[in-house]
Amino acid sequence: MLDSPTNDDVSNGLADRPELSILPVETCDGCGLCCQGIGSPVAIYASRPGLPDPHPSRPPDLPAELIREINDHFSGLFRGQEPQDACLWFDRATLRCRHYEYRPPICREYQLGGSECQRRRAEERARTDC
Ligand code: SF4
Ligand code: SF4
Repeated sequence: MLDSPTNDDVSNGLADRPELSILPVETCDGCGLCCQGIGSPVAIYASRPGLPDPHPSRPPDLPAELIREINDHFSGLFRGQEPQDACLWFDRATLRCRHYEYRPPICREYQLGGSECQRRRAEERARTDC
């Protein structure tokens, strides 16, 4: 239920304005924020000397050319040591993942419309509104 309008609301013309709610996030179209500024989650798929190969999270059917691309970029690095801008698989033109079907567990657990998604979108709105 809406509160009764105050005298200030009436004099400011706000008395008839409905209460605004935060709308749920229903699509990633045009966003892609969670694939930027976190490095490359796919770096966990890289082959590393002295560690089990393949990484247990690497999909068994990950194509050889994608493994080569990841190894070329990240082999020998631990997750967190790679460049922390956009993910290797992030497509800046479409703002989408280039190989979504092979995305790592952390990307599968990230919830569209979840608290972290809402936080990043709110931060971006605040950044671009100024
Ligand atoms: S999950 Fe949220 S932050 Fe990530 S691309 Fe989709 S809408 Fe954007
Ligand atoms: S693997 Fe795909 S979904 Fe995950 S951060 Fe990279 S581009 Fe985004």
